Amino acid sequence: MEHITDISRRGFIGSVAGVGALAALGLAGCAPKAAAETEAMAETGAAGEAAPAAADWLGTAPDIAEGDIAATKDCDLLIVGAGNGGMAAAAYAADAGVDFILCEKGETVGATRHWFAALGTRPFKELGVEVDRQRLMGEIVRYSQGNCDQRLIRMWMDESNDMFEFVDGIMTASGAVVIADEFDMPGGMGGTPFYTPPFEHHYVDENGGREFDERNVLFEKHINEAGREVTFGHELAKLVREEDGRVTGAIFNTPEGYVQVNAAKGVLLTTGGYAANPAMLTALSPVTTQSVTALGYNQNNTGGGIKAALWAGAAKDLTSATMIFDRGLVAPGTKAGYTEESVEAGEPQFPGNGQFNPGTQPFLKVNMNGERFANESADYDYLPHAAAQLPGGTYVSVWDGNFGEDVQRFHTLGCSAMTRNMVQMFKGEDGSYDLDKFFEKELGDGRLQKADTLEELADKLGFAAEAKENFLAACERYNELFDAQDDPDFGKEAYRLSALRTPPFFGATLGGTLLTTIDGIRINHECQALDAEGNPIEGLYAAGDCSGSVFSGCYPDQLHGFACGRTMTEAIHVVKLLA
Ligand SMILES: Cc1cc2nc3c(=O)[nH]c(=O)nc-3n(C[C@H](O)[C@H](O)[C@H](O)COP(=O)(O)OP(=O)(O)OC[C@H]3O[C@@H](n4cnc5c(N)ncnc54)[C@H](O)[C@@H]3O)c2cc1C
Repeated sequence: MEHITDISRRGFIGSVAGVGALAALGLAGCAPKAAAETEAMAETGAAGEAAPAAADWLGTAPDIAEGDIAATKDCDLLIVGAGNGGMAAAAYAADAGVDFILCEKGETVGATRHWFAALGTRPFKELGVEVDRQRLMGEIVRYSQGNCDQRLIRMWMDESNDMFEFVDGIMTASGAVVIADEFDMPGGMGGTPFYTPPFEHHYVDENGGREFDERNVLFEKHINEAGREVTFGHELAKLVREEDGRVTGAIFNTPEGYVQVNAAKGVLLTTGGYAANPAMLTALSPVTTQSVTALGYNQNNTGGGIKAALWAGAAKDLTSATMIFDRGLVAPGTKAGYTEESVEAGEPQFPGNGQFNPGTQPFLKVNMNGERFANESADYDYLPHAAAQLPGGTYVSVWDGNFGEDVQRFHTLGCSAMTRNMVQMFKGEDGSYDLDKFFEKELGDGRLQKADTLEELADKLGFAAEAKENFLAACERYNELFDAQDDPDFGKEAYRLSALRTPPFFGATLGGTLLTTIDGIRINHECQALDAEGNPIEGLYAAGDCSGSVFSGCYPDQLHGFACGRTMTEAIHVVKLLA
């Protein structure tokens, strides 16, 4: 959905690295000086030379004359984007009696992301489990390579329990029961060198299912009961920034024309990331576009909020970060890659086709040359990242008839635990697992390969000549490692090694599934958008995936639920601040 017709698509800088740097410096903002500099650079290139191929994901703010505004509305707080952050903010604002308007591009509230992290909550206290805050802070800083704002992380740590209490009140009233995840791990927390803190929550009904409205739907009902509603079909076109520097509202593209919403106290952007914008993603995170074989994002998330903030003078994270799950199951021979053209041609595909949960299981994985290339017991995006640097960008996971037993022993965490839980439903009275039934869909559509011998499996996977030899040698070596219960080759934990001896054998060609992007508008610990000098832009706030200052390079997968936990905590923090 692109209503804005008058955005100039003209490129303004020659290098990909330069785009990030420029944006971070605020030069891409709509302040007149910045715009002039930007245009000058488009003519000459940053070094005064002719600009090479332009990266034009940012464009310029649309020119909207006062006379083009079809309607104007007023409120204290304008929230933009009715997803996980926006709905939490709106529900909290409804309780706090804040005069708010919530504008959403789509026609429904965004999909709920169920697992969320919070510290020191009642359910974990009842279990006697505590998070080591210093260690957690160190882990977040390490994952972000120091690019995060540690005061912002501390704010999340301090206020996430309040967020939990608020969310829990609404969920519990609907009959949902909270589950405190991941406190009882073999070999200590996670059994990996990563810290896997006990702080993830999700909800089930009394039968362990999910027979209740999703959280965002419950939030919508909650604000409806308070006499408020989500304003759908409103796509952010640009922010309104006054000469004194304050952001005082925003203009939206709507079916009725442009609508301006004035916000006396502030504008909170919760517009999500830019995963649905291949041009922006290619410019900012080529490792993502080169590793992806399946898509799982909200298709409204084209980076509109980030771009509007940059046009208004905000700075962006200097580095990028995306959330990629290693579950993009594809037919043998498929190559990874995500471009505007490939999406139009229907590739990669959206889940249910692409999200193959067992892809995360730490079985032997080999590259397209049949060689083992990494420790498979790793964060979700490590294998896709490594494969992106290799020809084809995909890799193959291989397991045998002991799959059911192996995944119980692997005991993976977070949503990847679904595999070990689901396969139990296919366990017969004799203790064996009906794997044909468990993998029925993927075997049926030809993406998953099954064979009685490893040789036959190699053929089905498309390994020819040398690659086949490598593949068989890798399987043999892997059996040796399993027997020795030691992996000097890549350092995997012994309990996550497995044998390849019991037919049938299975082979899955995999790449990454792109879920979202998590770099964005640089914010401080109050979630205020920052300009190029690091000063807060009065009246402008951001939370969740459109905001930055937390992640860099990757999503910290062992910190399960951190994305949604920080999103809702930040969003509620802004409401508290302005209430
Ligand atoms: C399939 C999937 C599963 C996930 N599961 C989890 C999980 O279990 N736990 C976890 O921690 N994280 C999870 N994540 C990540 C998590 O969803 C995000 O990190 C974050 O919580 C999203 O919140 P948000 O409000 O920033 O964005 P979103 O929830 O994506 O909401 C953004 C909203 O803004 C709207 N919007 C976009 N552009 C505009 C515009 N220009 N104008 C107006 N509105 C606009 C969109 O339509 C959308 O409703 C998952 C992500 C995906 C894709």
